[in-house]
Order: sequence, then C-alpha cells, then structure tokens
Amino acid sequence: MSRIASVLLPLPLPEAFDYAEPEGMALNVGDQVAAPLGPNLMRGVVSALRDGAGHNRPLKAVQARLEEPPLPASTLEFVQWAAKYAVDAPGQPLAIALRGARAPKAKPLRVVEATGLRPARATPARTKVLEAAAAGPLGGAELARAAGVSAGVVKGLIEDGALTVRTMEPEARFEAPDPDRKGAALNASQAAAAAALKGIVAQGGFQAALLDGVTGSGKTEVYLEAAAAALARDPQAQVLILLPEIALTQAIIARVAARFGAQPGEWHSDVAPPARRRVWEAVLAGSCRIVVGARSALFLPFRKLALIVVDEEHDASFKQEEGFIYHARDLAVARAKIEDATVVLASATPSLESLRNAETGRYHWLKLSARHGAARLPDIALVDLRETPPESGRWLSPPLVAAMGETLARGEQVLLFLNRRGYAPLVLCKACGERMTAPDTDSWLVEHRYSGRLVCHLTGFSMPKPAACPHCGAHDSLVSIGPGVERVEEEAKSLFPEARVAVFSSDTIFDAREARRLIEAMAAGEIDILVATQAAAKGHNFPKLTLVGVVDADLGLRGGDLRAAERTYQLLAQATGRAGRKDHAGRALLQTYAPDHAVMQALKAQDREAFVTAEMAERELAGLPPFGRLAAVIATDVDATRLDDFCRAMAEAAPNTPGVEVYGPADAPLGLVRGRRRKRFLVRADRGVDLSAYMAAWRARVRPKGATRVAIDIDPYSFL
Ligand code: ADP
Repeated sequence: MSRIASVLLPLPLPEAFDYAEPEGMALNVGDQVAAPLGPNLMRGVVSALRDGAGHNRPLKAVQARLEEPPLPASTLEFVQWAAKYAVDAPGQPLAIALRGARAPKAKPLRVVEATGLRPARATPARTKVLEAAAAGPLGGAELARAAGVSAGVVKGLIEDGALTVRTMEPEARFEAPDPDRKGAALNASQAAAAAALKGIVAQGGFQAALLDGVTGSGKTEVYLEAAAAALARDPQAQVLILLPEIALTQAIIARVAARFGAQPGEWHSDVAPPARRRVWEAVLAGSCRIVVGARSALFLPFRKLALIVVDEEHDASFKQEEGFIYHARDLAVARAKIEDATVVLASATPSLESLRNAETGRYHWLKLSARHGAARLPDIALVDLRETPPESGRWLSPPLVAAMGETLARGEQVLLFLNRRGYAPLVLCKACGERMTAPDTDSWLVEHRYSGRLVCHLTGFSMPKPAACPHCGAHDSLVSIGPGVERVEEEAKSLFPEARVAVFSSDTIFDAREARRLIEAMAAGEIDILVATQAAAKGHNFPKLTLVGVVDADLGLRGGDLRAAERTYQLLAQATGRAGRKDHAGRALLQTYAPDHAVMQALKAQDREAFVTAEMAERELAGLPPFGRLAAVIATDVDATRLDDFCRAMAEAAPNTPGVEVYGPADAPLGLVRGRRRKRFLVRADRGVDLSAYMAAWRARVRPKGATRVAIDIDPYSFL
C-alpha cells in the first residue's frame, strides 16, 4: 500500500479513521473527500498522511476527492484544538465547520432578458418593460415590477420573441468591501481607541484587545475602523464579527454595509440553508471578506482571518450548552492565536475574565468613557418594593407607573424589561397545590397566553392549558403565578389604553426579519411601550427611549450560582443603558426587594469599578474564575442505580493532582430531564493546571455502561 490517509469524519468518534489512498489521487492534508463508512459515503477531511509500507491490515480506500477547495490548515488545526480543549471528539467541531458544506445549493434562477428582436406591436407599457430589461436579467415578476406594469405585458413580450427566459446560476461571489470609504467622524476618545486598534492590526501577529466602553460610546464605530485597517492592509484579509443575539445581526449588518459599501456574509441559524451554503463557499474561496454571525461562525473555513470582533463579549449566549459545549469568546481568542490574527472583545460590562486579562496586561485595554455627542447615561433609581409594592395581582409599582405616565405624556418611549418569557412562570392548582411540570422533568411549565399553551422551556414539551387539574380533577382551579412579559404587556395595556404596546421575546419574534421589523418600529417611534426580555435589551439604539423599567431586578440573583451577581449587573447595566440616547435625557427604575444588595447599589451609583473590585476579591479568595478554573461533569441515565454506580466509580477514579479539587457527585438541581436522572461533579483547579488534560485523563479511566451518558463542560456557565 502506498499511503494511508487519516480522515476526520463529522461524527462523535474519538479519532480520525484510516483509509488507503488510491493510486494517483495525490491527497493533501485538508482535502475534502468522500469516504466509505458502513454502507454509506461520508464527507470527511484528510487530517494526516503517512507511509503505508509495512501496514498489513486491509483498509477501505478513499472514494473520491471532492471538488471544493481543501479546508485551510488553520481551520483544521482550530477544529482539533477546540476538541481537545472541550474534551470532546474532533468530529463534533468538524461537523460545525462543515455545516455550510452540507446545506443544499441555491436553485438556478429563471430570468428574463431581451433578445434584441422588436415586438410586433409596441405600446408604452411594452417599451417600459424593454427599457427595464436593458439594465440586466431579472425574474419575470421583478421585471414587471421594475417597469410598473402587469405580469401579462412581460408574458406577451416573451410570446412575441422580444424577451426570452433562461436559467442562471445564482451569484456565489460577494461584492468586495471598500475599506477606503469614509466612516463616521470620530470624537477624541473614539479616535484614540481606533488609532490604537489600527496600530495593533498593522503590527500583525496575534494580539488581543478589550474595547471597554459604556453603552452608546461608539464601540461599533471604533471596531469598524479596525476592520477597515485589516481589510486595507491585505486584499485577501477576512474579518469576523461575532454577536450574541440574532436580533442584533440586522442592525450590525446594515452598519457594515453602509461603512464598506458591500453586504457582509450573514451566518446564524435563521439564515436559509442555500444562503448558508453560499457564505460557506465564499468564505472558503476568500471572496466573502466580512462575516457577521452568531457563535458558530467561528468555525467557518476562513482562508485568511485577520480580525475577530466579539461584540458584547460578556454575554452568556456565547456559551453553547448542548452538543459540542464551548464558549465562543474563549475559542475566538484561541482561533485568533492560531490564525495570527487580532481579536477585539467589546463590551460596556466586560466579563471578569476579560477584565482580569486586561488588568494583567495580557490584553490591550482601550476605554471609551463617555457617550457619543450630547447623549448622557441615564439616571438610575431603585424602587424599594417593600415600601411601594404594586397592587395585588399587579407587577408595576406606583413610582414606575407614574414615571411611565410622565414619559408617555412627553411623547417619549418606555422599555419594560423582564427576563421571563410567556405569561406566568408557574401554574398551580389552588385546590390541591399541584404544580404543573413537564413529564419526567423537574421543570415548571410556563403559561403562554398567545398560544394558549403550557410550555417547558427546557425540553420544548407543550400542552394546551387543561380545563381541570390533571392531579385532583378540580375545575377552573389552575392559577397563574408570577409575571412573564405577556402578563406585563397586559398590565401596561390596561394602565395606558391609548399607548401602543408591543412584546419582544423569542416567542413573539420568530426570525431575524421579524426582529428587525419590530426594532425598526421601535426606533421610528411607532411603539410607545416595549415589553422585552434580554433579546431586545442589548445593543440597540432607540433615540426616543427615555425610561427603562426593570420589573424584577432580583430575578437573576435568585439562582445563586458563581456568576449570578456578575450576570445581573451586566444584564441590568445593558438594559438600563438603552435609556437616553441622542438628545433626550434618560432614566431607569429598578424594582427590587433587595435595594441594599451590592449589585443594586453599584447599578444605582453607576460604579462598575466598586462592583468589580468587590466581586474580584471574593473570587480570588475562593480561587474561582478568573483566578482559578472550573469544569463540570454531567452524568445522566434513565436508570438511577446504574447512574449511581457510574458516579461512584468516577469519584474513585478521580486523579489525584495538586491544585485540583473534585466535588461531588451531587444530584443536579435539575435532577430529572426527559426521564433521565442527572448527577454532577464540579472540579476546581488552579490557573496553571491543564484542566482539559486532567478531565480527559479522568474520563478515560471509567467506561460508562448501558445508557449512561457523560458530558464534560469546561468553564461551566450553567450549574443546573
Ligand atoms: P456602542 O456600540 O458603544 O453601544 P454605537 O457604536 O452603537 O455604540 O454608537 C451609539 C450611537 O451613537 C449610534 O447610533 C452611533 O451611530 C452613534 N455614534 C457613535 N459614534 C459616532 C460618531 N463618531 N459620529 C456619529 N455618530 C456616532
């Protein structure tokens, strides 16, 4: 046998499979190939080639090399690095990297164009069509629309032979961005930050920067300057802008398109498969030079990635919790290192991890301390719900209602923020006390009035709201406990019947286009009161929004996990930061039962420094991130005894390593999901420990039996 090709397949297999290289195929590392797997052929990527002399086991042969260009070496290296880091199979990140390749191609377009023949009969309508057709091929309906005539006129011209129909491959290339177009005139502190970033980009090589600026300070304008510098420096350079929320992509895409005169590639789960395929191919070919996307865009096969921007870098949505578990911010830094690229992390409320890296000099630290132009940060006040509670069965306190009335009377807008979807988070029977939960799952069903259903946000299970209690059979006994955004909407409408009220949550907004429509309506002043979950609380600029009411400021603190205080601070600082842009002063009211809590006091005083210092000190004392590292093991099984046995074996097998402590096993707070029991271990390690290697070694010592499943979560954000 001449050579053996190791082929990585996009499957959860521990390693690459060996295949024989057919005579004359001359494979290279990175080549995309079709390889036989069982009875099927599967797309894989050659990860290594070695001499087959002396190998006497028969191997199946690679079937074919695919037409697509090879995966760039750095993409392959990143995929392998990510798997090692996450203690998972390399096929898992590879599957994400190849997602675009497996999407169907766009169908050929049917277009109409002029033949040059004159129609037998000329009318003004026909002349208009022929003029419009001269501009280039268009679909029949588009052509009729462009000419302002009915479709029948186009049809008549086709019958007459003046127009003809042909099929055309959809455009695969992307327009080239023009980095020399003028951006916004920057203010002094923006200009200083932009100059520093441009300097970093110009130096080349891996460098990381934290762009730390209050909401509305113009971080986007600044990082677009860095993008311009990267694009101008090298005509092949590519730029990736990662966003935490699909709802934010449209606004950033519009700003990128305006800045560079070309549409960037868009990448997230709402992008239709053919469009995704087009972006994937164009990124690999190098013609798509700017991508705006969600976390999985990090796995695209960039040819020459020069700059990665992670916008709202503190956002927990960058953590992927299912399947391949990773944190896109951390992997962005790793990818930048592999690509010799610059990475810019932008936020008004940076994560403690990034702040620590900036403090210790590992990251450049660029600060924007004021809002752009006349805009001022809002005044923040706490509403002590113990003193001024809402009426019974209501959720908006008298001070907040009064502030809403004043704001609306001035013709300005209100945002009510509540990070809870649906109508009510809990439905219980007032006859027997039964709480409605999803089947075989420790999670309450959330009532959704729009759909009339009870929904499990964890498993997706849903059912119509029953007329009688399924437990005791009592009729009309089910009551809704607590508020969700739909209930607050109801209250806002009843308080202000004249106001135009809208809800923004992932249940009411299904896709990016819908999100954009609502955000544009809000920006245009067509909505008076927007009730929103975190999906709308970030990043957007609403010029006439002057009051933000936080319905339940304590909500995020209740979970009590490691990041509860940090997350609450970040989320509320973002939400309140929506108030008061352009020339309108803004204010924010936070309804809380714990006005003395450090988070509430820091928000009120707008003193991030004080909050961060106190929180850092606590973390340092406990050796928690960013001063130590964490990992979790989550083991699940339908059979409680087998799960216990496995966890006992795991506990015994934990390697004894200095600087590493293992806690558990403990029943997970969500002890039962879809009929599977769940147990957790938590591992704390000193910073210097290679925690991924430790976890890999530990896991290798115990083989799960039967239906036991094990997941490892490096740097967990969820402790459920
Ligand atoms: P951030 O990302 O820090 O929240 P943005 O970049 O979105 O801030 O800027 C906030 C608002 O101020 C946007 O509407 C933006 O267009 C405007 N803005 C910021 N800087 C400038 C500038 N130098 N010139 C004109 N408008 C600016």
